[in-house]
Amino acid sequence: MEKINLDIGEGEVRKGIIKCTELEDSTPVIIPYFVMRGIQDKPIMLLNAAIHGDELNGIEVINRVFDAIDIRKLRGTIVGVPIVNTIAFRARNRFDPVDGKDLNRFFPGDDKGSITQRIAHCFFHKFVKRVNFGIDLHTGMKGHLLMSHPRVRKFNDIDQPIEYSMALGTDIIFHHDGAEGMLNIQAEKIGKHIVCFENGVAGVVDEYYINEAMKGVFNFMKYFGMIDGHAIMPEKQVVLTGYEEIGAKRGGIFIPYVSPGDVVKKGEYVGYIRIPFSGEKKYVRAIDNGVVVGIRTQPLVRPGTTVAWLLPFDGAEIIEPLEGDNIKYRKSEILDKMKKKGITI
Ligand SMILES: [Zn+2]
Repeated sequence: MEKINLDIGEGEVRKGIIKCTELEDSTPVIIPYFVMRGIQDKPIMLLNAAIHGDELNGIEVINRVFDAIDIRKLRGTIVGVPIVNTIAFRARNRFDPVDGKDLNRFFPGDDKGSITQRIAHCFFHKFVKRVNFGIDLHTGMKGHLLMSHPRVRKFNDIDQPIEYSMALGTDIIFHHDGAEGMLNIQAEKIGKHIVCFENGVAGVVDEYYINEAMKGVFNFMKYFGMIDGHAIMPEKQVVLTGYEEIGAKRGGIFIPYVSPGDVVKKGEYVGYIRIPFSGEKKYVRAIDNGVVVGIRTQPLVRPGTTVAWLLPFDGAEIIEPLEGDNIKYRKSEILDKMKKKGITI
């Protein structure tokens, strides 16, 4: 059985590919990987992207992290997998277009299943099992722009420890129910702490969100002592547990007034729908006080299409930040915005 070569020397980088399965014309289905070992081998951190093939920001993030790290100062090993789902990536699609399965619902995989199940098995057994913790980089689906935030998940008896998500240093953390077969749920079952980290939107390479993701990755590595420097964390973080979709009532063209990361009050306009043949404007209002976690960027909507995604403050909690000599604190932008609108939790 083909193995990834983690057994590299101190101060070495290796880039390779591993074959998981094959296509109908015998083309191998591969997973590319980078390994960088610093001045000690542990801890081993996984950085992966494109479990959903059209989520591109994370691919660039991993390449830039590998470019930026000074190997003579790295404590531990980074295993980078810039594209997990190479066949979906090639198809410019979220899923493999032939089996149509969501890779992030099929971990730990099945080596006798369909292509997607085999990729899940290959990635889980050859990479995930060999690391201590990691960051799984995602974006929203096409047309669904997401602010920079981690998703901590619980499912049945699995409840991910929040410390790993807090270490990214984002203003908010979304703590919600996961589903069977999600990477972070299945990894947690075997004691591997994988943080799902959302930044931006599928099908687009966005400099702002690439930078936000890199800040998160470096904060995480600093907090866990893999690189020198201070992790920059908000003075307090907001953990949100609710999730609401704001739907269009009319068909037309959606024009947003708000951006991901904005705080809105119930009843406030989040944008309007222009009815193109009559010129009417149909305003869309926030259905609760909350954080706009996502906004529709594909403007054509039908009645019922979600135009904004809201994390309501109902049930939210303001938590104390992580502590350590290697942390510096900054103001929380979300708490600032809440204060300006007179919203308290
Ligand atoms: Zn995704």
